[in-house]
Amino acid sequence: MRNKVHTPDNTKDEITIKGIGAAPGIAVGPAYVYSKQIPTVEEKSISQEEIEGEIERLRAANVRSEKELQKIHSFAEQKLGTQNAKIFEAQIMILNDSILMSTIEKRIKAERKNAESVVFDEISKYKRLMLAARDEYMHERAHDVEDVMNRIIRNIQDQRLFSRLEGEAIVITETLAPADAVIFSRNKILGYATDLGGITSHAALLSRSLKIPAAVGLRKATAIIQSGDFVALDGYAGTITIHPSEETITSLQSKAKRFTEFEEQLATIAKLPAVTKDNRTVELSSNVEFLEGVEFSLLQGSAGVGLYRTESQVLGQGQYPSEEEQFKEYEQAAEKVFPHSVIFRTFDIGGDKLAPEFYHEENPFLGWRGIRVCLDRPEMFLTQLRALLRASTRKNVRIMFPMVSTVQEVRLAKDFVHRAKEELRSRHCAFDANLKIGVMIEVPSAAMLAADIAHEVDFLSIGTNDLIQYLLAVDRDNSAVAPLYQQFHPAVLRTIKMVIDAGHSNDTWVGMCGEMAGDPLATILLLGLGIDELSVVPTVLPEIKKIIRSVSHKQAREIAESVLTLSTEQEIKDYLYTTTAKILPEIPLEV
Ligand code: PEP
Ligand code: MG
Repeated sequence: MRNKVHTPDNTKDEITIKGIGAAPGIAVGPAYVYSKQIPTVEEKSISQEEIEGEIERLRAANVRSEKELQKIHSFAEQKLGTQNAKIFEAQIMILNDSILMSTIEKRIKAERKNAESVVFDEISKYKRLMLAARDEYMHERAHDVEDVMNRIIRNIQDQRLFSRLEGEAIVITETLAPADAVIFSRNKILGYATDLGGITSHAALLSRSLKIPAAVGLRKATAIIQSGDFVALDGYAGTITIHPSEETITSLQSKAKRFTEFEEQLATIAKLPAVTKDNRTVELSSNVEFLEGVEFSLLQGSAGVGLYRTESQVLGQGQYPSEEEQFKEYEQAAEKVFPHSVIFRTFDIGGDKLAPEFYHEENPFLGWRGIRVCLDRPEMFLTQLRALLRASTRKNVRIMFPMVSTVQEVRLAKDFVHRAKEELRSRHCAFDANLKIGVMIEVPSAAMLAADIAHEVDFLSIGTNDLIQYLLAVDRDNSAVAPLYQQFHPAVLRTIKMVIDAGHSNDTWVGMCGEMAGDPLATILLLGLGIDELSVVPTVLPEIKKIIRSVSHKQAREIAESVLTLSTEQEIKDYLYTTTAKILPEIPLEV
């Protein structure tokens, strides 16, 4: 790769794409867009005489693949430690699987086919089985198997691995396999940015171990960025900026410095409670997408899971998982979190998250989404509710409904819970009969009706990501209107206050699980407005806890009162910036 541009290009407008911060740090430099070379496999017939040579090619490719993997393994051991390097041991074991290899050789002989087509066919069978397991762990393993398969095929075809990078680069790619991450780390990789993947993907975990800044889930980074483009990656905020200006770079660099200094202070906070100086405890929990995320959130000091996005199990699959498959996942999550609680949100599909039965809508965010889908799919909904109820025997499971816009929907959803309980009773299955039910407040009509809804359920959780887009009429994913998507818009804050007050006047606790809950600029304000729980992305949890522990509830209430008198987002942000910085001068804040 040749890097043509090494400095900011002031002639181009900067563009920022937002994803998820996966590994902390800032990286500035040229992009290298890496598209994985998937070898193409053509099935060819071979003659009797060619069989021996074909088997030789296969064996030589295996030897070469093993050598490559051994090298990656020992490099990974030095860089990542023995535990993390085990991924590659597992890949070597596949290569050394004598049954698999002798099956491939036998098929080359019997079917007289070229080696790569048999390798592809035989190993793909394994991969399909693993993908069918509907278990996130098995899915990751299926990718490992695929990786080994491509490696053998590439070596049979005598193709070289991708060319080494020249100089430093930020790698932009669709997804990152563990081997790619390790190989890249031998080059001067400044950061990783991927279109796909969440906080628990291998790419994210490895980047954190390798201490390389990373942003994942950027969706369209590979489509927009070209190799050689000058970019700035913010692993804290999970953004990548193309053609960043001098000012953007300077501000990111000073942010990195402040974060490093501040992070050093946070190392010991995980075991301390989230309590204000005057002893008001705030439930500080985490948002997770997959089972793997639960452990990481607990290590970060989380008091349970405030939003478990169950639809992650469904997205990209051709069908809904069975009751058993779901039960297994929910049960394990509940066990890991115990004695804390986990709030499972029922499938929130539709909008930007496609349902298995893909259905085209002109206006999906205003369409068939969340609870609307669940109520229209009784069997799917009841299956999920039974699985959730069965996982509740420790009494630490709660259920929450997304995208509610009417009280009627809440009542119908509760009827479904009642039906699921009856069905389990007739099957003599145990569950928590008093399991708590909640509703996400993320549609303006639900916010207006918060008191009525609170009357129906045990808790409310404010989903600011959607609430803001619906309240302000600003698509949360449309960069053209991004400046209008304002978390601190006075209308948003007044709505949040209205919901909290409505909940409290009905003795119902009110939490928040939208991204705003994890914004350090919002913490004191939310405390002051009386929020009972904040469910945040686990990476920011220590910082939010530090803020909670640095302020008194009384102070926070006074600040919130002043904020509610202001009428523009900028005034509010400036005021919160100044007051937060006064209370905790060392905190790095973004305005
Ligand atoms: C929200 O809307 O605030 C929320 C937490 O849900 P999601 O981001 O999954 O739509
Ligand atoms: Mg939402």
